[in-house]
Amino acid sequence: MPRLISSIDEMKKIALEMRNAGKTIGFVPTMGYLHEGHLSLIKRARSENDIVIVSIFVNPIQFGINEDYDVYPRDIDRDLALCDGAAVDYVFQPTVKEMYPTGYQSYVEVTEITNKLCGASRPGHFKGVTTVVSKLFNITMAQRAYFGWKDAQQVMVIQRMVKDLNMNIEIIPCPILREADGLAMSSRNVNLTAEDRRSALVLSKSLFRAREMAANANSNPKELIAYIKDMITMEPSLTIDYVEAVNLDTLQDATDLKGRVLIALAVKVGKVRLIDNMIIGEM
Ligand code: AMP
Repeated sequence: MPRLISSIDEMKKIALEMRNAGKTIGFVPTMGYLHEGHLSLIKRARSENDIVIVSIFVNPIQFGINEDYDVYPRDIDRDLALCDGAAVDYVFQPTVKEMYPTGYQSYVEVTEITNKLCGASRPGHFKGVTTVVSKLFNITMAQRAYFGWKDAQQVMVIQRMVKDLNMNIEIIPCPILREADGLAMSSRNVNLTAEDRRSALVLSKSLFRAREMAANANSNPKELIAYIKDMITMEPSLTIDYVEAVNLDTLQDATDLKGRVLIALAVKVGKVRLIDNMIIGEM
């Protein structure tokens, strides 16, 4: 079984000992309720580092007031068993009080690329993410951290933060894992009703179709977005938050399909907000 650590001081002490012993630390930050997507990041970390630390922390400061913090799925026993199967060394699971004690007042903020996509529809979300991730990087002292392309904007924001603040850590983005029928794996999928689970399939289906359409020389971002929106609108229980095509590096609207274009969407499926995306062009 991995060692379960809830104290920041203890996690730092262990990380320092490992670093002093010349070991490499790979870190996978998560909010728990682990699935194969998380496990793919953990496997990659396991194959590239001496020590693997997984954090499980549902970070309240990255949720808006009307969002799903309270109903976010949690099951530490299940997560520990999955981490055991993946040969994780340490699971760091601090309490909210441990991470944000009375008097807490420091935040890390990436400004421009957080104005778009999820940053626009979830004000303050990325400030919460960059703050908690900075804290976790300091606590785990990892040399490498693993993030999924499932949260493409998050990857770009974290890479920007690491570059801008000269952090000594390498960010390793990993591919999106999907269910056999195409739905992007997410801890939130467990909150979908059977009917909504079926309707949600249109998200990945329309993204895959858009990628095929993009292979056509005359295709353009506007046409792809219109197609995806039409497909989603046909499902009555789905409400579009956004569907956008942006240049992956700048997150500015893509006017053509040259370079790496990110087609990203966020959609409310019943009560559950899901995101998915597809990168078109060379990686
Ligand atoms: P979360 O627990 O949802 O905050 O996710 C923790 C990490 O796992 C993030 O870097 C996510 O991008 C990544 N992740 C979540 N779902 C998937 C997936 N379906 N495929 C690959 N990575 C994922």
